[in-house]
This record gives sequence, structure tokens and C-alpha cells, in this order.
Amino acid sequence: MDYTLPLFLAHAIALEREAAERYHELADMMEAHRNDEVAALFRDMVRYSRLHHDSIVERAAGVTLPSLGPWDYAWRYPPEAAGEETFDPALNAYDALRYARENEARAMQYYSDVGLNSSDPEVRRLAAEFAAEETEHVAAVDDWLSRTARPAAPWAADPHVDR
Ligand code: ZN
Repeated sequence: MDYTLPLFLAHAIALEREAAERYHELADMMEAHRNDEVAALFRDMVRYSRLHHDSIVERAAGVTLPSLGPWDYAWRYPPEAAGEETFDPALNAYDALRYARENEARAMQYYSDVGLNSSDPEVRRLAAEFAAEETEHVAAVDDWLSRTARPAAPWAADPHVDR
């Protein structure tokens, strides 16, 4: 898909806004589980996503943005929450991080695809910059994952098994 600047900005704004909302939910959940360290990571991610969102909104000043339908890069809830648009309140830190990682990786993939494929040089420039940012987010989440105990039955291993 060849992204024009308005289309790209609209998607990037939606992506960052959604990331901020999901991280906010995840941070609240980790606090409820008394996992203050992972909650703090997610609060940082809320802040980064909001800052990024606001800077893209600023960049989009004067640009007429198209309205967007559902798209492939929107955050997906873990399979066990399918259809409910909410997290399982028992989501543990490891699975929350796995979930965040998956969505960060999808954002990174999205931005790098656009960065490589748009015919608009400004879109390519912005997308490459955003992809680099997402690469850092993936690395930050990976770092936490490596320090977080893996539960006996992570949802990603088999989403159809009841725990
Ligand atoms: Zn990110």
C-alpha cells in the first residue's frame, strides 16, 4: 500500500493513541497484582506513546486527515479475551509483556513497511524515524521479558486451553 502523508499520519495517530490506552489498562492491572515494577514500565510506555501521539498531531496541523476503518495494525487483545475488548483480569506480568511485545513488534513492522514502500519521501522519513523508536520499545520489553518469570501455561502457547 502506498501511503500518502495524510493517510500515514492518521494511522500513526490512531496507533499511538491506542497504545497509550492499552498500556494504561495494563499498568492498572499490574498495580492490582502488586507488580509495581512492570506497572512502572507500562506507565513509561503510556508516556512515550502520548508524547509520540502529540508530536504526530502537531506534525499533522493543517493536514486534513482521512477517517479510518479497522486495520491490521490495531492492537489485538490476547486470544482469551477475544470479542470482549478487555483484558483477562488474571493476566500475569509475563503474558502482559508478551502481549505488549507482540503489539510493539506489529507497530515496528507497520512503520518499517511504510518507510520502505511509500512513494512520498516525507512519509518514508517519518516512518523510518518511528520504526527506530518502536525498535527501542521492542528491545525494552524484551529486556523485561528476560527478567520476568514465565508462568506454567502462557496464553500464547495454547489459547484454547482453560486455565
Ligand atoms: Zn511503541
